[in-house]
Amino acid sequence: MTAAPHHPREGDRLASLRSYQVLDTGPDAALDALTGAAARLLGAPAALVALLDEDRQWFASASGLESVFGYQTRQTSREASFCAWAVATEQALVVPDASADSRFADNALVTGPEHVRAYAGAPIIGRDGLPLGALCVVDRHARQFAAAGVQALGELATSVAELLELRRLDAAAGLAPRQVLAESHELRAGIDAGQLVVHYQPVVDLASGDWRGVEALVRWDHPRRGLLAPGAFLPVAEASGLVVPLGREVLTLACTQVALWRAAPPATAGGGAAADLHVAVNLSGRQLSEPDVVDVVTDALVVSGLPAQALTLELTETSLAGTGAQVDSALARVREAGVRLALDDFGTGYASHAYLQRFQPDVVKIDRCFVAALGRSGRDDLLTGSLIDLGLQLGCEVVAEGVETAGQARALRDLGVRTAQGYLFSPPRAADDLLALLGARG
Ligand code: C2E
Ligand code: MG
Ligand code: MG
Repeated sequence: MTAAPHHPREGDRLASLRSYQVLDTGPDAALDALTGAAARLLGAPAALVALLDEDRQWFASASGLESVFGYQTRQTSREASFCAWAVATEQALVVPDASADSRFADNALVTGPEHVRAYAGAPIIGRDGLPLGALCVVDRHARQFAAAGVQALGELATSVAELLELRRLDAAAGLAPRQVLAESHELRAGIDAGQLVVHYQPVVDLASGDWRGVEALVRWDHPRRGLLAPGAFLPVAEASGLVVPLGREVLTLACTQVALWRAAPPATAGGGAAADLHVAVNLSGRQLSEPDVVDVVTDALVVSGLPAQALTLELTETSLAGTGAQVDSALARVREAGVRLALDDFGTGYASHAYLQRFQPDVVKIDRCFVAALGRSGRDDLLTGSLIDLGLQLGCEVVAEGVETAGQARALRDLGVRTAQGYLFSPPRAADDLLALLGARG
């Protein structure tokens, strides 16, 4: 028997395959759809995504395999792998009659009860340029494969590689594949159906109690699950890229709403208390890296009529991590237009000082964990106080987040903080409820 060959860079190839973390995972409907399509296109009873491991081939998908083998399995020995040949040569392999081919005549799958007679396979090339396995079709009868069919197999193999890459990225983001796919479809439909709503939390002057502005916080008014907080859908929005259209929608809704409040006649909006209201909108890293982010921001201002000076964009260290000159120049242009920039969740990142230096925010928002820590111990107070000092020394407006008690508000004032938000003043509320509250204050 001719031994199944190895790829010239077998060690690297195996390392690349392992990095996908796909071996021995559950069934995958999207891969099954691709093998189903391959079997139909080539008129074969079975099609497989065979990933070539050290001493086995593992089937990430196996459509119709039972009809050929007579039993269902997700792996065979490496020795019996036809795909190993396509992998070793990085070329499509066509075997019209295995029993007449010296490489396969004594292959266990040919001589055994599986009775494989014909094979066509195309290598699946991973992101490192190394083959992970092959997409193949098998038949129990000797037969020819049309060149167009073999070419189509190669194209489907590329789609398999792209799908495996998506799965790898989802796994890296800590998301289960089917969860992302199903939920991102639902979220896309939800965005299109206008199910995103924006709630607003007032940002309050600690000395006077006056409202300086509001922070816009997205919610998904889900038809079955009710009103969802961002933690329930932002990870999927990030992983799927939907956070880009989502963020655009929130920006437009928030600018439009606050422009309306500012223009509202005094009787309906707290005796004119809303005339100077500004709005803070959170921006994700994905959104920041979009080439048209500056246009998106300026469009929202133009469409809503909100002056640029009334808008603050909130960024986190996480959203800035890994970005470079392109994002820096986009931020500089937004700021030139008059928009303010805030560093959100300040103090929670690993390199707060570095981001302060690079990005020079107008506002720093002290994360609520530092507010919650106030009064716990001398060390805690010192840490929170030094974060506040740092912001103030750099000339930033310092906003404290998550203020829940009057004691915290007092302590923050003593530490030099002028503005804050939190449940003590108001939780985030729907626009109409907030307007009522504002009216009641006016
Ligand atoms: P964030 O920007 O730091 O927003 C503050 C979060 O703290 C909000 O959670 C708010 O509801 C909550 N909060 C406010 N006051 C208090 C308080 O006194 N105590 C406590 N325990 N929590 C308080 P939410 O609305 O669940 O939002 C979570 C995060 O989701 C936000 O954190 C922000 O990073 C992100 N987010 C929200 N809306 C958007 C959006 O439109 N786009 C993007 N990219 N991210 C968003
Ligand atoms: Mg924020
Ligand atoms: Mg925050």
